[in-house]
Amino acid sequence: MIQRGRGKAFAVTTLVAALSMAGMANAGVTDQDILNDQMTTDDVVSNGLGPKGQRFSPLKAVNTDTVKDLRPVWSFSFGGEKQRGQESQPMVKDGVMYVTASYSRVFAIDVKTGDELWEYNARLPDGIMPCCDVINRGVALYDDLVLFATLDAKLIALDSKTGKVVWKKKVADYKAGYSITAAPLVVNGKVITGVSGGEFGIVGKVEAYDAKTGQILWSRPTVEGHMGYIWKEGKKVENGISGGKPGQTWPGDLWKTGGAATWLGGTYDPDVNLLFFGTGNPAPWNSHLRPGDNLFSSSRLAIDPDTGKIVWHFQTTPNDGWDFDGVNELVSFDYKDGGKTIKAAGTADRNGFFYVLNRENGEFIRGFPFVDEISWAKGLDKNGRPIYVDDNRPGNPADVDGNKGKPVVAIPSFLGGKNWMPVSYSKQTGLFYVPSNEWAMDIWNEPVSYKKGAAYLGAGFTIKPLNDEYIGVLRAIDPKTGKEKWRYKNYAPLWGGVLSTAGKLVFMGNPEGYLMAFDAETGELKYKFNTGSGIVGSPITWEMDGEQYISVVSGWGGAVPLWGGEVAKRVKHLNQGGSVWTFKLPKEDA
Ligand code: CA
Ligand code: CA
Repeated sequence: MIQRGRGKAFAVTTLVAALSMAGMANAGVTDQDILNDQMTTDDVVSNGLGPKGQRFSPLKAVNTDTVKDLRPVWSFSFGGEKQRGQESQPMVKDGVMYVTASYSRVFAIDVKTGDELWEYNARLPDGIMPCCDVINRGVALYDDLVLFATLDAKLIALDSKTGKVVWKKKVADYKAGYSITAAPLVVNGKVITGVSGGEFGIVGKVEAYDAKTGQILWSRPTVEGHMGYIWKEGKKVENGISGGKPGQTWPGDLWKTGGAATWLGGTYDPDVNLLFFGTGNPAPWNSHLRPGDNLFSSSRLAIDPDTGKIVWHFQTTPNDGWDFDGVNELVSFDYKDGGKTIKAAGTADRNGFFYVLNRENGEFIRGFPFVDEISWAKGLDKNGRPIYVDDNRPGNPADVDGNKGKPVVAIPSFLGGKNWMPVSYSKQTGLFYVPSNEWAMDIWNEPVSYKKGAAYLGAGFTIKPLNDEYIGVLRAIDPKTGKEKWRYKNYAPLWGGVLSTAGKLVFMGNPEGYLMAFDAETGELKYKFNTGSGIVGSPITWEMDGEQYISVVSGWGGAVPLWGGEVAKRVKHLNQGGSVWTFKLPKEDA
């Protein structure tokens, strides 16, 4: 009896072990996997290497000593005739890489070999209206689904094994100028997305859907005056007007086409259980048509992930007149001040100022310029509100001949001190690594009226470099003091994301095609490799079978060649492409 009992117990244990191993091999991505992503180095299952968006990895096999031996193990081409900008961040789970490409394509790739497992190609209508290239910034993973959004403003869930569509939802009307380019964000089973279209007078919003079924859960407009909704047992219920009521910070009916596009997606901080989404310019660009702060344009919003309520907001550019979209990512970090831990968040705005906020309540802690020159503001007041230089706001056409207002030279240009390309915050050095650009623009206002599906700017512009030798500057910035610890100057404007690692390294690509690695403390360039086309994507790192891998997407494009004026002429020799590269150390070094 005793022996039989023992034997049975042994058999059960073995069976459990076998089941859990089988389960691991086929495990889908869980909420916990996403929350723990930064520390689980064998996969990358969130945009930003963790929902806080720090883009920091504890891996250190590739470090300041070994990185010189880094070499490519495979390169995968996105193929087809469709190239243009490739701004994706790949994901890696259970030996498979999921990466998006231009024109709303998704690829699944065997990370050991670089072999294609499947491709999904969204069939886009002819009438799509992306403002700034046909890019896509990546997928989200949840359970056995690969979630991504398209240039015709749909959210799509694919089977991670086959690439077949599981569900598809229309988020907004592409014929009114909406599109989506950001990677969705998954928080506790909800897939959360914003929308693009601020140049077409759309109304920005953030929406949550059930990740497994695609059922909408809540919708939160980001322009004051619009009603939010929540779905209870499938029924649509009013959930409060954004900002309380219309007309408080907008004149007349302009709030009805107010912009504030949430086009870069968001981050999530489990410590305070808040989503952080930024909002773009108020529409139209001509600020004289809309006196007032124009909430919630050019702002950072903290949103309750369960209800879609706006918990706090911080507006970086009230009554924006320069297209200083406030979409840039808000990255959580903690620091000690007199023995007290401050729950902070940092963000480098298009307008040239870096802001440190209290992420619990949105209070302004400090702000400072992170670019060399700012023309439109003298500085920030104690609440973080800009102190405007009135003469440097583009003039009102009504003050002159009614056709063209007084032009001004504005620094930074509307492409921003920093644009979409994500920063990295290193937990090892406590520094932010900010991919920035030094450029100016001539800008003037013109009359404009809203027409569905047409550009709604009321402004003209020409972007110009400020220096002959460089436009891009990668900066290492101490968020506690505003001091710049080091900088790396790049001839072409920087347009790709940054990754920092515990190997005391900072990785970034440039439009000239190089994947580069810098010493995180000194800024010394330790490694570079040319990927054959410009890099405007964001690098990742993970480990497999005891070896550390680095991957990055290559393919020049994005807003600069389309809108860059004099700058675009300087970089017109750069060739398009479309591929993802994967690197590691030779085995003997690992
Ligand atoms: Ca991970
Ligand atoms: Ca904009």
